[in-house]
Amino acid sequence: MSKVIIIGAGGVANVVAKKCAQNDSVFTQVLIATRTVAKADKIVAEIKEHMPDSRAVFTTATVDADNVPELVKLINDFGPVMVINVALPYQDLTIMDACLETGVHYLDTANYEPKDVAKFEYSWQWAYQDRFREKGLMALLGCGFDPGATQAFTAHHAKHHFQEIHYLDIVDCNNGNHGKAFATNFNPEINIREITANGRYWENGQWVETQPLEISQDIYYPKVATRKSFVLYHEELESLVKHFPTIKRARFWMTFGEAYIKHLNVLEGIGMTSIEPIDFRGMKVAPIEFLKAVLPAPESLAAGYSGQTCIGVQAKGIGKDGQPKVHFVYNVKDHADCYREVQAQGVSYTTGVPAMIGAMLMLQGEWMQPGVWNVEQLDPDPFFDAMNKWGLPISELADIELVKD
Ligand code: NDP
Repeated sequence: MSKVIIIGAGGVANVVAKKCAQNDSVFTQVLIATRTVAKADKIVAEIKEHMPDSRAVFTTATVDADNVPELVKLINDFGPVMVINVALPYQDLTIMDACLETGVHYLDTANYEPKDVAKFEYSWQWAYQDRFREKGLMALLGCGFDPGATQAFTAHHAKHHFQEIHYLDIVDCNNGNHGKAFATNFNPEINIREITANGRYWENGQWVETQPLEISQDIYYPKVATRKSFVLYHEELESLVKHFPTIKRARFWMTFGEAYIKHLNVLEGIGMTSIEPIDFRGMKVAPIEFLKAVLPAPESLAAGYSGQTCIGVQAKGIGKDGQPKVHFVYNVKDHADCYREVQAQGVSYTTGVPAMIGAMLMLQGEWMQPGVWNVEQLDPDPFFDAMNKWGLPISELADIELVKD
């Protein structure tokens, strides 16, 4: 039915491509375009080996996604309906520009972040609203798991369980073990920048800033474990408090083990997480980019990764019956199952599947509408059906408060 371009060939792109291969009645022709084309070729070789029955036709190309004319040529040559951007947040705006110029729809999994400032917010991408609407094109922002599924979970709370949501807690637990002393589960540069930044949460109409990893509590993750979890700022908080103005407090929690934090503290203490370039043998090198080159690639963690992820959203407020209510919506995913299915670890899997689903709901028309959208603005019902069908079954837990005030 549809021709799409996937940009990027990292851990998440691998999952998006393989789920498109499984869903071959929707995704008929797929071009994986990236900086290092050998990585895209490897994904296509694995699809041929592990999914010989898929009728989707895959090709690969090299592209520098920082370069709009190069992107425009790539898109015009291939003629897709949409671009699925799973490169890095730095490329969001150039890819959106190229989509506008060529008249194709757009989806990504992380909001734009300038390379030289550790700051991410939706303002840059929301500024494209009029241009996408006027051209009759859709841009779907942040359609991974968090951001992404967590916003659909919130929309589900609002549609099916609550008159008013007052307190929202997004919880993200990776209870997996990859056997490495220190590694990040997705792009190290993006991941470390997110964690070493100050924390932030929404309370009574304003942002409250914390030191990095200052606030923590033990949270029980159903079917998985009780794990110490830390408040950090996460991008979907910005759009959720905008679109659900009854929210009095919104927080994002993530688990980190002691060894992970110890390594991170040392790396930060000696300046290895800095984004400021230093002079090294006549070259300018940002220490964090060098660190990325030293650390294991996220996709290399997949073989032998054990344990589960559990990501969910707890809402508290006034239920549909007018009574106080607390409700939790979540998914549990096993790393080893992800590897068996698509040669990926759970963090790439839980990001790539919602990206494929978002693209499918756009292409099939359920979600397609001109403009720039965040996931919570769209109907969560077809998304829930698709998550249950495509490998991320959703569970619900009523009347138990997992995250305390
Ligand atoms: P990786 O670093 O594994 O992959 C990124 C890919 O993008 C690489 O193939 C890289 O090429 C390619 N790339 C980078 N810069 C360019 C460029 N200028 N032109 C063309 N290609 C480029 O990252 P992940 O797969 O782990 O993450 C992908 C995206 O998903 C990120 O934006 C990340 O923030 C997001 N994410 C979202 C989550 C969610 O739940 N919403 C969770 C996890 C990740 P090369 O191979 O040459 O380096």
